[in-house]
Amino acid sequence: MRIILSLFLAVFFMNLSPSSADEPSVQWAIAIHGGAGGNPAKWEDRKRAARKEGLEKALSAGKAVLESGGEAMDAVEAAIRVLEDDASFNAGRGAVLTEDGKAELDASIMDGKTRACGAVAGVTRTKNPIGLARLVMSQTKHVLLAGPGADEFAEEQKVPLVKPDYFLSKFDNSYRRKNNLAADASEPHFGTVGCVALDQSGNLAAGTSTGGTAQKLPGRVGDSPIVGAGTYASNDTCAVSGTGVGEEYIRHSVAYDIAAQMRYANRSLEDAVTEVMTQRLEQGVGGLITVSRTGKIEMQHNTPGMSCGAADSTGRFDTHLKLAAEPDAGEDRENAERVIAAIIHQQASDWSDGDLDAFMKPYWRSDNLTFSSGGKVTRGFDATLASYRKRYPDKATMGMTTFSDLEFLKLGDDAMQVIGTWKLDRDKDPIGGKFTLVFKRIDHAWKIVHDHTSLLAK
Ligand code: ASP
Repeated sequence: MRIILSLFLAVFFMNLSPSSADEPSVQWAIAIHGGAGGNPAKWEDRKRAARKEGLEKALSAGKAVLESGGEAMDAVEAAIRVLEDDASFNAGRGAVLTEDGKAELDASIMDGKTRACGAVAGVTRTKNPIGLARLVMSQTKHVLLAGPGADEFAEEQKVPLVKPDYFLSKFDNSYRRKNNLAADASEPHFGTVGCVALDQSGNLAAGTSTGGTAQKLPGRVGDSPIVGAGTYASNDTCAVSGTGVGEEYIRHSVAYDIAAQMRYANRSLEDAVTEVMTQRLEQGVGGLITVSRTGKIEMQHNTPGMSCGAADSTGRFDTHLKLAAEPDAGEDRENAERVIAAIIHQQASDWSDGDLDAFMKPYWRSDNLTFSSGGKVTRGFDATLASYRKRYPDKATMGMTTFSDLEFLKLGDDAMQVIGTWKLDRDKDPIGGKFTLVFKRIDHAWKIVHDHTSLLAK
């Protein structure tokens, strides 16, 4: 009887104490997006570089707030302001225009601690709509102000106002048409911006800001200022910011649906996001950035690209113009081989695109990384990246790379050695050799901890 009772008590207390999966695994975490939609492979180098730089600046601004113990709401506003001021994104300066050539801006912000939220729609003179949305939250009893009333409120609040021309960007085809410039044939201008954050006090926040969709009807409002559609945050589940065809996000209450799946169906953040991105929204519609109350970041898109980035207190700091399929922790060996092979092939394509930062992604920002080549050993992520940068000072010197003849050797349960052949086709001097990589399974992904490259004689 006593045994049964103590067993019962043990099970009872096990259920009472929070499971380790529920414990925050990081002190703070932040993710940003700069819009889903276009295919970055089709962009001019200049546009790719501008996007990357903008993402890094915004992520650093948000990170600085969280790292120093600041609030999630402040981090979200800080990151979004940087993106609104950057003309390569479709929010604030650089917004897309309505059919009749005007910028009408939408934004919203939500505090996961109190569920207080504020939003503006169709503003035409406010430099930073995200700041105005926050003022609607803190200075009025309302949630959403639209049109001329919102602009008047901006005047009243003495926030910086600008002339409508301020928003125009030469990246946008409406602007080009208006100024008799040839249309940018590459793609429509995407680039709505958003941010989600978890701060050191365990509070979540989310925000989104946009010029809407290109060539929209005057007065059209999308999902970005609609809490529950484009933005949502609640401390018991997650924070969400979406980007894509706003009408679809409104129809499916996308942002709230992620939180609802977690709250009522006890689903993981990853499962909830995957469900929406693969089962509810049609392919090609958009993307999402999310962070859970434990600091897990999940970002997905079903469009060719999504500008985005993530950072957390473990030292993670990465930005992307598109995401490769994320590996998953539960794979068996065969699966692990498949995932690692996919990472290696993705690296080949990132290298061939001249995208060194994406190429370095599987290394993450680790001090433990060892890279050896030509008898020289480099330690740490930053040193390895710097040595690549030195060796390949520009895209032209990098050339097309291929990896082949992959062989896998299991090292315990959570590590894998991979050997293979590399080839670099450059105009003047194609080179190649063997490589050995050691991958370690960490949390939800595989990371390269050792890389040895040898050059074979021609
Ligand atoms: N969701 C935004 C809207 O429909 C557009 C975008 O994310 O690109 O207004």
